[in-house]
Amino acid sequence: MMNSQDPNLHPEKQDRTSGELPIQPDNAELMISFLLTLNILGAFLELSPDALIVVDTKGVIVLVNTQLELLFGYGHDELIGQPIECLLPEHLRAGHVGKRTRYMQAAHPRLMGSGPDLVGQRKDRGQFPVEISLRPIRIERTLYVMGAVRDMTALRDVERERMRISQRLRQQDKLISLAHDAILVRDAESRIVSWNEGAEHLYRWTAQEAMGKVSHSLLQTRFPSTQKALDQTLLQHGQWQGELNHTCRDGARVIVESRQVLVRDDQGVPSAILEINRDVTERRRLEHLEQEAHAEMDARLNVLQLILDCLPNGIFLVQGPQLRLLMANNAAAALWGAEWARGQPQEEFLQQQGIHLFTASGQPLPLEDLTGRRAMASGEPVLYRQLVICRPDGTRLPVMVDAIPFTSLSLLPRLPQEMTLEFPSVERVVLVVYQDVSALKEAERLKDQFISLATHELRTPVTIVAGYADRLLARAARGEEHGLDEWQREKVQEMKLASWQLASLTEDLLDVTRIQADLFSLERCSTDLVILTRKVIKRLQATTDRHQLAFQTTLPQLWVKVDAVRIEQVISNLVSNAIKYSPGGGLIEVALEEHTETHEVRFRIRDWGMGIPRTQQAHLFGRFVRAENARAAGIRGTGLGLYLCRELIERHGGHISFESEEGVGSTFFFSLPCLESVLQ
Ligand code: ADP
Repeated sequence: MMNSQDPNLHPEKQDRTSGELPIQPDNAELMISFLLTLNILGAFLELSPDALIVVDTKGVIVLVNTQLELLFGYGHDELIGQPIECLLPEHLRAGHVGKRTRYMQAAHPRLMGSGPDLVGQRKDRGQFPVEISLRPIRIERTLYVMGAVRDMTALRDVERERMRISQRLRQQDKLISLAHDAILVRDAESRIVSWNEGAEHLYRWTAQEAMGKVSHSLLQTRFPSTQKALDQTLLQHGQWQGELNHTCRDGARVIVESRQVLVRDDQGVPSAILEINRDVTERRRLEHLEQEAHAEMDARLNVLQLILDCLPNGIFLVQGPQLRLLMANNAAAALWGAEWARGQPQEEFLQQQGIHLFTASGQPLPLEDLTGRRAMASGEPVLYRQLVICRPDGTRLPVMVDAIPFTSLSLLPRLPQEMTLEFPSVERVVLVVYQDVSALKEAERLKDQFISLATHELRTPVTIVAGYADRLLARAARGEEHGLDEWQREKVQEMKLASWQLASLTEDLLDVTRIQADLFSLERCSTDLVILTRKVIKRLQATTDRHQLAFQTTLPQLWVKVDAVRIEQVISNLVSNAIKYSPGGGLIEVALEEHTETHEVRFRIRDWGMGIPRTQQAHLFGRFVRAENARAAGIRGTGLGLYLCRELIERHGGHISFESEEGVGSTFFFSLPCLESVLQ
């Protein structure tokens, strides 16, 4: 029964059940024949696998087969008598009536629907692409049109998929042609069937020239072992990768990293080989050069290590703030009396082995003050530092240490990788050299012993001579000495001066040897530095008319616990120098201040004499050091005074320095701690 609710169907349907035929033949005979033909045709239509439909010239459906009913979801009775447009979506119906009418006027067989826009509509209003072929037929002189309707949904899907695949293949082709690598496809007989631009570029043969050639012959391939071995791997594992040597069109040889894959057909028979070859010629060349350079460097380093091992000095290379050991020579182990492991921080090594370091004056060296650490922190070389190593077995070794920093390893001739990898290469590296100076120290000790002995022996006769000269002059002055004329008095006076100079020199030398032998001690006692300074100034003012010695202080007294004799010696030395090196005379200022905030007293001795050349100022506190201008001016001296001043001040816990400009004058400063001062 027809569903009157179905909106697809024409409301003015001609119902076959009503007994009316869409087109009625004119007479009964014809009618019978017509119905017979229609029945036979209907039976035929059922035989077809396609959905078939017959319409009259007005587009009314006359016959449908089961396939068509299934395709559109209608029952047979729902379709018969309906206009063909009921099988179309609404928007196509009006247009279709015109098309159909024009077709009927000159009906001819035609295949329609190859375009994508021919669409059918099912009873459930679902739409699907269709293809329709039309054929006019005559039944008893009446024209009908038979249509075969085919659902194209699956076909269209397949077409779409095919298009997608072919598009993807085109993209892949493009990609392959863009690749820098040489990509080639060989058939089972190794004949080239595909050759991309990368291959053209690498081997210089065009695709046209390469096609069909046996690839190994064309490229004169040199295999890592044999071609047979490669082919066997491909057959067994389906792929191979390794390095090949090829010859290009221009004869140049290239090394390629090759990856090959065997492709089999549906029956599993090998059909092609895909090959991707990457040019690694330049890379291999550089690697080779690097290997050579490494080998050469290893050889050089071996020689360097041999040389270092022959040297008697302990030589270390340390890196970073922890002073981790990078390398050391043979003498290093002997020096410490223990093995310092590579990579171990120096502090850890010393503590682990029970090794102690001392300064030249015997003070324990704090680990923060290790020579390598000083150079590491400042980036400046630390040179000629004298230390004493106390080894695990208790033996002591005097050493002179030099530490020279490098900004980073990159400044060193390249080190072997295994040496640098462990530590960040940005860390500073310091070369530390420990020189065993025990022999020198022994020689120095003997020399000091000799000087000490000689000066000791000199001291008594010199004092006797000076004393007699003094007495001789005194007696002559009292008129007790009749025999001394003017010339004799003058000479005895010179004798007295020279012998007192000699006596003072022997005293200085004795002090130096005592300090060197560490036999020097201070006798501290509460001393009024104001009185002490006035006494020195008064004594020295008496020796010169050309100089005016001025003492500047606001302090009435200043009691400090010092070795009075030694501090007097220092003030005396500095004021004497101010007099001596101002040969033209002039003012000499001595100032004394107390700085309660730093608990120290400060002295300042200023002259306007010859000054000290800038280039010689750095070493002036050393033993026997004198400035050139003093020598040139013929002023006599030993170069021991300032050395003794520094030793005496530093042993008091103070500090001494100076400022000077040649031709302008000098100012010497020294400070003494007054923590222990006692006001009386
Ligand atoms: P000396 O005076 O016996 O040579 P010192 O150790 O006292 O030895 O001084 C070392 C050198 O320092 C002197 O030789 C001199 O060149 C320089 N010097 C010291 N004091 C002064 C000064 N006030 N003015 C100029 N030069 C000085």
